[in-house]
Amino acid sequence: MEHTKTPPNLGARPDLAPKIQTPDSRRAGRKGDQPTIGMVSLGCPKALVDSERILTRLRAEGYAISPDYAGAHAVIVNTCGFLDSAKAESLEAIGEALQENGKVIVTGCLGAEPEYIREHHPQIRAVTGPHQYEQVLDAVHGVVPPAPDPFVDLLPASGVSLTPRHFSYLKISEGCNHKCKFCIIPDMRGRLQSRPAHAVVREAEKLVESGVKELLVISQDTSAFGVDIKHAEDRGHRAHITDLARDLGALGAAERPWVRLHYVYPYPHVRQLIPLMAEGLILPYLDIPFQHASTDVLRRMARPAAAAKTLDEIAAWREICPEITLRSTFIVGYPGETEDEFQVLLDWMDEAQLDRVGCFQYENVAGARSNDLPDHVPAEVKQDRWERFMAKAQAISEAKLAAKVGQTLDVIVDEIDADGVATCRTKADAPEIDGNLFIDDGTEGLKVGEIVQVEVDEAGEYDLWGFIRN
Ligand code: SF4
Repeated sequence: MEHTKTPPNLGARPDLAPKIQTPDSRRAGRKGDQPTIGMVSLGCPKALVDSERILTRLRAEGYAISPDYAGAHAVIVNTCGFLDSAKAESLEAIGEALQENGKVIVTGCLGAEPEYIREHHPQIRAVTGPHQYEQVLDAVHGVVPPAPDPFVDLLPASGVSLTPRHFSYLKISEGCNHKCKFCIIPDMRGRLQSRPAHAVVREAEKLVESGVKELLVISQDTSAFGVDIKHAEDRGHRAHITDLARDLGALGAAERPWVRLHYVYPYPHVRQLIPLMAEGLILPYLDIPFQHASTDVLRRMARPAAAAKTLDEIAAWREICPEITLRSTFIVGYPGETEDEFQVLLDWMDEAQLDRVGCFQYENVAGARSNDLPDHVPAEVKQDRWERFMAKAQAISEAKLAAKVGQTLDVIVDEIDADGVATCRTKADAPEIDGNLFIDDGTEGLKVGEIVQVEVDEAGEYDLWGFIRN
């Protein structure tokens, strides 16, 4: 897992999950008496997938989903507890839900610390930890009993999705076998547990059948998929990331979905994925959290593949697939980081020329082993390094985007506003974390989820503008 300092922007508010209205729930006599649950989902895309699963199960049991606090009989807050700032944000969201609704069930990463939550909010009805779907459902049953109705209890074909229908996160495993010193995810989520490959492919098939055009593969460590189950093969699908990527890339027959891989580590076997990108089976995009470039810092972080010759790997990937987009995240100001080590990172960036970059200033996290490391970096030094790093990253991004002016690119349409401006993404842009391509004119007839060809006519620091090619 790579943390985000703030939850991704999920539209207005993640708690504004669309109210599911089946024809049956609108029947006379049923209106108003259907048990209804609200959901506030904080944290990373992986937490969002958990929220989707909980909502799907609730929907299957006949609950409606409320878009606001007022219309809900109870509210579930799916929390993030990774950084102290995320904890504070989770506590705030719980407080808001208590104030606006009163009946609150807490789940997610922060749910692993029930005393901490109860200390701040003793009025909450229940606390469950991450992935305890059954316990969340039990808690909901206790607070708002289900009202079984054979007409309402129909599970939508592909579950309930908090993300727009044309893209969907696909979680392939949970937990992590690494022990990065700044991270408490393995303590909270346990060791790697891969889903069987056939189950992942089946879920992806259902999503594609229901209209999903882009699958975002996520886990704590996507490159490790299947290691825990010895890359077992079942029903024709092998639990290995290369095989899974090939299987997902083959879905959809006439119209293949875009398949985007997140949280991949620079292991040697990742090279096997790149030909699949060159062939067009999966998107030429790798979200690969390097976190630093100095081998000494990486060792002190206890990062997986700390000794990997990442510049050589990147060069090899680009040779196989020149159009590959590389996104990464970094931490500056890790305990003990010297100016020389930071300079190694800046020099590495000059060479690596990554397309998309996020950067965090190191922050202590309660329970993380890095807290006890010597030589913590003063706040002003962290800020200064963050600014220098981001200035470099931004200059690289700007130059890379400028080079796209005049090119014709495939884009997927995410949104069309009332003025007809279409917000789209190229293959190089993941939702929530990367940039956009905007089309200002000529969008009549365009549909959300459609993939069209656009000629780029302007570039900014992070975004592009273009017009539809006829
Ligand atoms: S221990 Fe490392 S690899 Fe595992 S989830 Fe944490 S940051 Fe990611």
